[in-house]
Parts: sequence; structure tokens; C-alpha cells
Amino acid sequence: MAKYQCPDCGYVYDEQQGDPHEGFPAGTPWSAVPDGWACPDCAVRDKEDFIVVEESGPAA
Ligand SMILES: [Zn+2]
Repeated sequence: MAKYQCPDCGYVYDEQQGDPHEGFPAGTPWSAVPDGWACPDCAVRDKEDFIVVEESGPAA
């Protein structure tokens, strides 16, 4: 599980939590998010613009 952040507004998509408002239940992997999906906060950035901010793993 990883998190992906919008480079414009800072919205973060967390695979672990999903985004029920957007129709993605908790645990929805980033790969299942449609390519044409746009940031729900700013609607400016698309999925391809998002950057990985956190790869989950053992706490450092
Ligand atoms: Zn955004």
C-alpha cells in the first residue's frame, strides 16, 4: 500500500483508506483508479500527475 499526492493542492490518496467519496472503498489500489480520474480537490491534476509520497512497509 502506498500514498499518492497531488502536486498542486496536496490532496493525498491513501490506498489503505481509499476515498469513499470518490467511489473507491478502503483498500482500492492506485492501479484500480481510472487513468482519467482527476484530483477531487483541485480538479486540475490527473492521476498521472500524482507522485508517490509513501511506500508502506515496516515503520522506520
Ligand atoms: Zn489537487
